[in-house]
Amino acid sequence: MQDFEVAIIGGGIVGACVFSELTRKGVSAVLLEGASDVSNGSTKANSGIVHAGYDPLPNTLKARFNIRGNQLYPAMCARLKVDILQCGTLVVANANDRAGLETLYNRGLQNGVQGMRIIERDELHQMEPNLADNIDIGLFAPTGAVISPYLVCIALCEEGVVNGGTVFTNFFVDRIEKSGEKYKIFARADTTQQENLASGGMHSTTKNDSTMHIKNAENCEKMQKNNENCCVTAKYIVNCAGVGANAINALVGAPQVPISYVKGEYLLLDKSQKGFVNRPIFPLPTKMGKGILALPTLHGNIMLGPTAQPCEADDTTVDDEGIKAIKSKVVLSVKQPNYKKVIKLFAGVRVISGDDFVIEHMPNTHYFYTAGICSPGLTAAPAIAEYLVDEMAKDGLTFKPHEVVSRKPYVCTADMSKKALKELIKQNSAYGKIVCRCEKITEGEILDAINSPLHPTDVDAIKRRVRPTMGRCQGGFCLSKVIKILSDFYNIPPENVQLNGKNSEILTK
Ligand SMILES: Cc1cc2nc3c(=O)[nH]c(=O)nc-3n(C[C@H](O)[C@H](O)[C@H](O)COP(=O)(O)OP(=O)(O)OC[C@H]3O[C@@H](n4cnc5c(N)ncnc54)[C@H](O)[C@@H]3O)c2cc1C
Repeated sequence: MQDFEVAIIGGGIVGACVFSELTRKGVSAVLLEGASDVSNGSTKANSGIVHAGYDPLPNTLKARFNIRGNQLYPAMCARLKVDILQCGTLVVANANDRAGLETLYNRGLQNGVQGMRIIERDELHQMEPNLADNIDIGLFAPTGAVISPYLVCIALCEEGVVNGGTVFTNFFVDRIEKSGEKYKIFARADTTQQENLASGGMHSTTKNDSTMHIKNAENCEKMQKNNENCCVTAKYIVNCAGVGANAINALVGAPQVPISYVKGEYLLLDKSQKGFVNRPIFPLPTKMGKGILALPTLHGNIMLGPTAQPCEADDTTVDDEGIKAIKSKVVLSVKQPNYKKVIKLFAGVRVISGDDFVIEHMPNTHYFYTAGICSPGLTAAPAIAEYLVDEMAKDGLTFKPHEVVSRKPYVCTADMSKKALKELIKQNSAYGKIVCRCEKITEGEILDAINSPLHPTDVDAIKRRVRPTMGRCQGGFCLSKVIKILSDFYNIPPENVQLNGKNSEILTK
């Protein structure tokens, strides 16, 4: 059993920000994630927009943390050595909707958004040549930006690990007991059992791990033989479990928060469509949400969506109705996209609690919880973490200042000069072996990803880090090669390599 000062439950963007904030302050912290990798919930399937902050109603937590989060992102991305596309965002409308656009502008002023301006037709169509013909005016917010949400989340967790924190994946919390001053936090047995699978078995990464480590898995096995579950102890808990927030609250007797789930479906177009739009293009928002957007991703694809459909917590399917909704609504803002270039459909689930975020400290305990962190939660996360850590300090948590260690960014051979790449290949020939032709990813980059601080174990975890299977062919050419690399590295049969966590084998015997 390992002891920590703080346990964070949930490795999405909110948990990752809290983990990074604490470990940079020298606090002994563990991040407990139920899935096989961090960033596997809402954080992996959203628009990736760092919102400027004109949308939330003034004096809400959403407005406060949106604005502060937006201010924190550029420096945070620089510190983490991950890219941010500082392209601004645009809400567009026709002349009849000028009043609606002005309401949004005034709300932005009230919230403290800097640099916004209303742009008229000629300039607007110059900025974005593929706007629909009937678009006359736009609200431009230069502080809006685009990031890769999963990469930022992973980078935050890596930073936490190189600064002394611990991450346990495959640790789905299902029991919490109070033992004196401490919480004992147990993992559901079936998530931690060691199997002959790369992503099976509780997986721990700490600063001192230099190779893949299914540490504690053996301990877990022993504990399970004795009918015990794996467990860590901590004085403080921060619940950042997204869809699982109420389940965790129930384990400690904290209140149940009214929650509903709303699915957002997307179409992703390949990189040949780069430039179709240069920044996120929103229609005027309605009570139903921000509407269907067209936007560039950080890596040069175009994304269309998201829809807003009430759903179950685990429903990430995309159906005909969703596709039709995207196609019929996106053309209200932009010209007809080239649907022959769609390479992927995906969906994410918004966790909604009324009109605002829920961020609470349960009285007379060291238990803190978040719930209903829907949009703009990605933007707000660094500010939510800053706030939570301040609240924990008021509750007695102490910091041990130390020099912060930087995380190492992933090598990207596609971005290198020919000369630099030649030099790299001389040092290690794996950087000369192309695995993914669409995204030009080499074996060396995939091995770097496997050896990175969280030691990802399955195909999608590698994809989120260095992008094989992300391109035009969606893995048609490279999937078998990625499976082989994982199988060789972890010394497991190829049919035991998983796509995304347990029971997601790709091959059969
Ligand atoms: C379609 C869509 C579009 C969006 N677009 C944007 C946008 O452009 N900009 C923006 O700012 N926001 C956006 N958002 C909102 C943003 O994605 C979320 O606010 C944010 O990802 C929430 O992060 P989280 O860490 O709270 O939750 P999650 O990312 O869901 O993380 C929670 C984690 O907890 C884990 N977990 C759950 N139960 C347990 C348990 N018992 N034990 C251990 N682990 C557990 C889960 O596996 C998961 O990894 C969008 C959301 C959606 C769905």
